[in-house]
Amino acid sequence: MTLPSRPGLEAVPAYRQGRSAPEGASKLSSNESPHPPLPAVVRAVQERLGTINRYPDMSAAALRDDLAARYDVDPALVTVGAGSVELAAQLIHAVAGEGDEVIFAWRSFEAYPSLVRIAGATPVAVPLTAEHAHDLDAMLAAITPRTRAIFVCNPNNPTGTVVGAADLERFVAAVPRDVLVVIDEAYVHFDRTDSFGAGIELFRRHPHVAVLHTFSKAYGLAGLRVGYAISPREVAENQRKVAVPFGVTDLAQVAARASLAAEEELAARIDEVVAQRDRLHDLLTDAGWPAVPSQANFVWVAAGERTEELEALLRDGGVITRAFPGEGVRISSGSVDDIDRVAAALVREAVTA
Ligand SMILES: *Cc1c(COP(=O)(O)O)cnc(C)c1O
Repeated sequence: MTLPSRPGLEAVPAYRQGRSAPEGASKLSSNESPHPPLPAVVRAVQERLGTINRYPDMSAAALRDDLAARYDVDPALVTVGAGSVELAAQLIHAVAGEGDEVIFAWRSFEAYPSLVRIAGATPVAVPLTAEHAHDLDAMLAAITPRTRAIFVCNPNNPTGTVVGAADLERFVAAVPRDVLVVIDEAYVHFDRTDSFGAGIELFRRHPHVAVLHTFSKAYGLAGLRVGYAISPREVAENQRKVAVPFGVTDLAQVAARASLAAEEELAARIDEVVAQRDRLHDLLTDAGWPAVPSQANFVWVAAGERTEELEALLRDGGVITRAFPGEGVRISSGSVDDIDRVAAALVREAVTA
């Protein structure tokens, strides 16, 4: 006798975490913040450690109120989750099931295909353009009567490209009102183009848009697991039904609130990450690698057949990256020291080549 296995799960790949780094190496494989948590955030968490025998506020009312005030939306439209990856799952489960389709670009965030399959729905992956950007026309053409949701990852992980505000508006306007457009803005804080903040504006103007934000990347809270969505009312209601109860801890909620209150300090850190990202791009380009201009906190190198070579070269120089065999290498922006290390590793190659 064998234990049951839900039909369909054989098609679900296990999520691959970015490589962990050996002691002393630069971990540029998971798009994390290179900075330690802000002192105010550490203090807020420490103050609450004495009450972790209690369940958290399941509705995260205080955090949702803060976010609702910031974006001037009804708190009922704000939902929270254990990272925005949980919110992506909530959104999919809220709108799609057996026989339904969910569209996304490919390559994009690795979790999308698995999350769609786990919901019993069918993933529809639309290839990126030759410039590694979303092919919005092809995504529109992929819509069928079974389509329930479309994810637009903006900026895109792992390529760092963005869809401009006007193009995104045209796209959203062309998508039928009974299909939910999810704009995943996990990296929006690093975007210095006109698509910065486009998701919320589209949410305000269109009835079928949801926006995903996370505290994991720019806010540096990846280890605490908290993100939020702003969604149409009926979608938000259904998200609450499919969410795992008590998924966001009290510590995560207070850390998120403390981070929102420390935006100025965070802005300086974000500027530094952006500066190092651009430096990283230029270093790679100067060394002859096909780096793609990025608006996120990482740089995509479309290395193709030389992917393993670049990954190994950087690993030998103490830099851990995320390689997608045969496609490319994604290198997160790090501290000045981290990018100095990349520079040294690339130069070493120039000498031996
Ligand atoms: C990192 C990431 C997320 C979510 O991360 P969480 O830690 O779960 O908040 C969501 N979308 C994309 C595209 C990401 O790269």
